Amino acid sequence: MKKRISVVIPVYNEEGNVCVLYERLVRVIDSCGLYDWQICFVDDGSKDGTWTCVETIAVSDSRVSALRLSRNFGHQAALLAGLHWAEGDAVVMMDGDLQHPPELIPTMVAEWEKGNDIVSTVREEPEDFSLAKKISSWLYYKLWHSFSGIEMREGSADFRLLSAGVLTEFKRFKEKALFIRGLVQWVGFKNVYVRYQADRRFSGASKYSLLKMLQLALAGITSFSALPLRFASMFGSIVAFLGFLYAAYAIVMKVGYHVAVPGWTSILISVLFLGGVQLLTIGILGEYLAKVYDEAKDRPPYIVQNRLCPKERGRSAKGT
Ligand code: UDP
Ligand code: MG
Repeated sequence: MKKRISVVIPVYNEEGNVCVLYERLVRVIDSCGLYDWQICFVDDGSKDGTWTCVETIAVSDSRVSALRLSRNFGHQAALLAGLHWAEGDAVVMMDGDLQHPPELIPTMVAEWEKGNDIVSTVREEPEDFSLAKKISSWLYYKLWHSFSGIEMREGSADFRLLSAGVLTEFKRFKEKALFIRGLVQWVGFKNVYVRYQADRRFSGASKYSLLKMLQLALAGITSFSALPLRFASMFGSIVAFLGFLYAAYAIVMKVGYHVAVPGWTSILISVLFLGGVQLLTIGILGEYLAKVYDEAKDRPPYIVQNRLCPKERGRSAKGT
């Protein structure tokens, strides 16, 4: 019996990319006839014609399934919906804007056949990648590594293959604030990296605004490390110690030399400084509290409004 491989593709407002991606992907999977392929497009609440494109493809090709989420839940949640749908011997996840070349899939499958459970990809930055983006990406991966203690290569993308064993473990995760590329590193297993040249987006614009990127970066750190909380208390202790030294200095000056340490400026500086430290600390605490709040609500990370699967054509389903 042929081994089964699923390909999961989250798409949000990608009407200009879906058909081209499908054609390129089909060429690749047709050339890998040794496997039984299943493709799943997860429409993350698109407002353009993406669902119509995906539906047309799913109706015409029995290897293609389509899930439509009830609204835009975000890339990570859409990816999770696809992973929950996926079954078989391996799953490949990739973006729907052709920045992840489908032609790399046979190399990833070959690495998996060698016994690797996770085949991750690392993008080689395009020449026109701005210096600011390169530096911020480098800094983030370094920071994430030192906070979490887990290794993740700079330039890691959500373009990877997972074996059935890893997928099963993955489906057991219950957490809501997802940072999938971190979780994939966290599960362990045998991991190998494949490099690829990142293409430009085929059509449309990136859906990751600076704010969304910062949110994901923050989720990555707060999901994997409590170190910022410890830094907050360490910082607080250092400031308190400095305050104590300054008080001791003032007492010595007054008692020993009858000189009063001049007032206003130093008082104002310490009040502002302490106020800043307190707000920063409350902010860090708040981030973790918000995380606990989100997890405690226990809402589903996404809701599927329509499901077009080969075996259940035309059926509508609700749930997670
Ligand atoms: N995406 C999604 N939901 C979102 C944002 C993005 O499903 O809310 C999809 C998007 O359609 C694409 C992938 O996630 O297939 C990566 O998004 P994008 O290309 O905008 O990110 P970038 O490559 O710029 O980091
Ligand atoms: Mg992209």
